[in-house]
Amino acid sequence: MKKLYLNRGKDESLRRFHPWVFSGAVGHIEGHPQEGELVRVLTAEGEFIAVGHWQIGSIAVRVLSFEDEPIDHDFWVRRLRVAYEVRKAIGVADCEDNDTYRLVHGEGDNLPGLVIDMYGQTAVMQAHSVGMHVSRMEIAEALKEVMGERLANIYYKSETTLPFKAELGQENGFILGQTPDNVAKENGLRFRIDWLKGQKTGFFVDQRDNRSLVEQYSKGRRVLNMFCYTGGFSVYAMRGGADLVHSVDSSQKAVDLVNDNVELNFPGDLRHKAFAEDAFKFLDQMEQDAYDLIILDPPAFAKHRDAVRHAIKGYTKLNAKAFDKIRPGGILFTFSCSQAISKEQFRMAVFTAATLAGRKVRILHQLHQPADHPVNIYHPEGEYLKGLVLFVE
Ligand code: SAH
Repeated sequence: MKKLYLNRGKDESLRRFHPWVFSGAVGHIEGHPQEGELVRVLTAEGEFIAVGHWQIGSIAVRVLSFEDEPIDHDFWVRRLRVAYEVRKAIGVADCEDNDTYRLVHGEGDNLPGLVIDMYGQTAVMQAHSVGMHVSRMEIAEALKEVMGERLANIYYKSETTLPFKAELGQENGFILGQTPDNVAKENGLRFRIDWLKGQKTGFFVDQRDNRSLVEQYSKGRRVLNMFCYTGGFSVYAMRGGADLVHSVDSSQKAVDLVNDNVELNFPGDLRHKAFAEDAFKFLDQMEQDAYDLIILDPPAFAKHRDAVRHAIKGYTKLNAKAFDKIRPGGILFTFSCSQAISKEQFRMAVFTAATLAGRKVRILHQLHQPADHPVNIYHPEGEYLKGLVLFVE
């Protein structure tokens, strides 16, 4: 394994188990590692600190272990086994009524650059680093060993998540088994998941708990689910006894998906309607007081730090429109999944929006990502999803 020496004094964050080595901390490297190759990270004085995947870019090394150990089959098995035990402890794996969960959440599971979502017997695996891409077959082998009969298929979906410059030419495809079946179960509800072409791994697993909360608030309400995608929130609202549910997404494909999923769970139910429209336009044109439960779950407005200011304006504008129109006594569920926006910044944007609309607003719940998307305590950057549930007088 090639050795990477840090610049003098650049080992501090690694001693606090932060799992990234930034390129500015790198002194010199013995030999020329290939992108994705394993390297040993040493202090300027030559003391071992960590072992991880090397990559060209601002994050030079993603740490796999702070122990001087081989990264072999046993290593992957151990890491995946812990991840699986955690999901059982949370109560999302091996459940009668739920087979949809995140098994591996990158740094949160000490596997930086790797995401694995489980949908029934199919794992959808996504590499966000060249190293995880290079290791994908080893990981697949280990996953088979850990999951045993519970796993029949592995779909590898990294076409859009790998660094473009690495020119890996990766295509999506099954690396184990194959199945046309794509119905997954979440809390007893069924969802058809387009993991072949859909966004992320096909479904936003991270909203499971928040969808359950929407269900609790839905009885007798007129619900608007903005940015609905596969319609997760809509289906839960219907089970919760909503009077009507309207789903909106700018993508016609999403509208087809939500219609499919409503039909799958509530065939022939006339309470639901979906609209392929821009959210801002829809909010502008809809009637005053038409809805008393509104969900705003937009895509990340800030994908990078430099987009933060613009994104905050976007959140303010969007929320102000909802505050303007929601019926008195209404409940607003509002989210941000931008990692670059902090909880405080998001709350400030929503506060500004409430002021602009001049409504009396109470915070009922402060929401976050679920337990199967854990945050590594040494890597606070892993916290990304935040939400507020608001009572609008
Ligand atoms: N709430 C969803 C996830 C939302 S993902 C869930 O629980 O699964 C964001 C969605 O917003 C995507 O489906 C995307 O098509 C849609 N979208 C993006 N920009 C939009 C816009 N301006 N108006 C309406 N929908 C938009």
